[in-house]
Amino acid sequence: MNDDDARALPVPRKAASALRYSLRALQLAWSTSRGLTVLLVLSTVVAGVAPAIAAYVARIVVDQTVAAMDGVAGARDTAMWAIGAEALLVGAVVAAGRGLTFCQQLLKAKLAHTVTHLILEKAITLRLSDFEDPSLHDRMEEARREATVRPLSLITRAFTLARYAISLVGYFALLAQLSWWAVLVLVLAGIPSFLAEARFSEQTFRFFKQHSPENRERHYIETVLTREEFAKEVGFFGLGELLLGRYDALFQTYYGEDRKIAVKRHAWGLVLGLLGTAAFFGAYLWIVWDTVEGILTLGQMTMYLVVFRQGQTAVTSALAALGGIYEDALYLENLDAYLEHAVPELAGSATEGPSPSDGLRVEGLSWTYPGAPRPALSDVSFHLQPGQTLAVVGHNGSGKTTLVKLLTRRYVAQEGRILLDGLDLREWSVAGLRARISVLFQDFNRYKLKAGENIGAGDPTRFEDEDGWRRAADQGLAAALIERLPEGYHTRLGKAFRGATELSGGQWQRLAFARALMPTGNDLLIFDEPTSAADPKRQAEIDERLSDILDGRMGLIVSHRLATARIADQILVLDEGRVAERGTHDALVAEEGLYAALFETQAEAYR
Ligand code: ADP
Repeated sequence: MNDDDARALPVPRKAASALRYSLRALQLAWSTSRGLTVLLVLSTVVAGVAPAIAAYVARIVVDQTVAAMDGVAGARDTAMWAIGAEALLVGAVVAAGRGLTFCQQLLKAKLAHTVTHLILEKAITLRLSDFEDPSLHDRMEEARREATVRPLSLITRAFTLARYAISLVGYFALLAQLSWWAVLVLVLAGIPSFLAEARFSEQTFRFFKQHSPENRERHYIETVLTREEFAKEVGFFGLGELLLGRYDALFQTYYGEDRKIAVKRHAWGLVLGLLGTAAFFGAYLWIVWDTVEGILTLGQMTMYLVVFRQGQTAVTSALAALGGIYEDALYLENLDAYLEHAVPELAGSATEGPSPSDGLRVEGLSWTYPGAPRPALSDVSFHLQPGQTLAVVGHNGSGKTTLVKLLTRRYVAQEGRILLDGLDLREWSVAGLRARISVLFQDFNRYKLKAGENIGAGDPTRFEDEDGWRRAADQGLAAALIERLPEGYHTRLGKAFRGATELSGGQWQRLAFARALMPTGNDLLIFDEPTSAADPKRQAEIDERLSDILDGRMGLIVSHRLATARIADQILVLDEGRVAERGTHDALVAEEGLYAALFETQAEAYR
């Protein structure tokens, strides 16, 4: 069901869906903590049942007091006993109220954890393209943002509804002795304000939904103005005032409308609330009249007044809870839609291919980003034999990184095939492929963990393998850098944590390079701009070490630096997603095409 359908639902269907979600709330509470759920149910039943009984007992107290004053034998004792019973009942209501808030407080933390766990568990299974899909991303963000409040709110409201529904059964039973009319008045007086409330809460929901692009933009500005990674540039260029101005303007675009809804909502709330009060005073008149006429006893009068007053509160609270549940249900719908988002299986189960000596073969590979006017890659083919190195060069935006994402199965080819050992990449198991391919992404992650763990992240099965860290660091020429850190491999990195050390961009890249070398036994290493942040000395060192590092393995290196490309057995030149040229360095220079021009520009710069 999409949001439009949800909004268009008639009231009874909304109520039905609210009830359905109340059951879902119970299930959610049960799966979070059975003990707390049992306590919640018990407290709800007590808090629901006790008030009506207490009202009935209050009637006995008054009638017996009047009887005692008229000299009826034993009436005084009965009144005293009844007061004792009423005290117990009121005590039970207080205890149940405590029980309810106690459960809610404990559930709050546990429930937020349970729900966030579900959200994160799902996030682990998503593909890169899912993260890039704005609507799914919005769903996930909304689910995450409201995980601490909505599920608890749903449970609280569902139990509130149950509590007042139970109370109302008792009140109705008592009032029905007076007249069914009284019951009818009680219910009818609450309904208009419920309908108005439901309508306006729907409007508010729709309003916020409509303005979610503005809100997203405001969140983004908040991030830019409050995060360390933006502070340097924002401060230097003095962007703060400008962005803050935009932030305020965005707020103004919808505040007026928000206010209008609020004014209408509360004006109606006031009028309809007064209608309820009028109904109460009507009933008040009626009950006092009947008492004066001798139709009702003083005790009955007290009881009916209490029941009518509390009954009114119960009706409005129950209806408000029902409306609220509907609002929370919209959140839950979003959460469910996110959790049920189908992620097609990208991987197969194979751990080896039919022709191990075939290496990597790419055939007619094409890829268009969703909504993009033209393909990022079209009809790319090449063959990388075991032990060989391929360099991929090209201008910005020519599709190099897209190719890396396809080769590492971050995306699945829309057209064409990628074969490893003669087997389509889609058929390899996740573990099988991971055992074969390692990668250094161009926009690698900077984990705010230990330096060693930043390397260990390249092979989660050996995340804490210190010998492994050292070997990979040695091989990736990062060992000297790490040994100079205050606590060596155990130095915590990043500025987010107290006492941690921050690295330069080039130093982070060294760690990421070592991370790609952490897995052992891989025979296809993919490096996307491995030295983009390195100084010339490091670049030269890496160029020199590459053949050692690759050591008979297949290498695919994306590089702007033609000095790196030069050492490759084969060079692929991409231009606007197509293979423009291919060959060895010497052959391509001789061809005097795109590559030769690129090479000439770079060589010129050094002369
Ligand atoms: P290169 O690595 O050669 O600089 P990319 O592979 O990153 O080029 O990009 C190729 C084309 O795809 C560019 O036109 C770019 O705008 C587009 N592109 C890259 N990443 C995305 C993405 N995540 N979503 C949509 N378009 C993208």
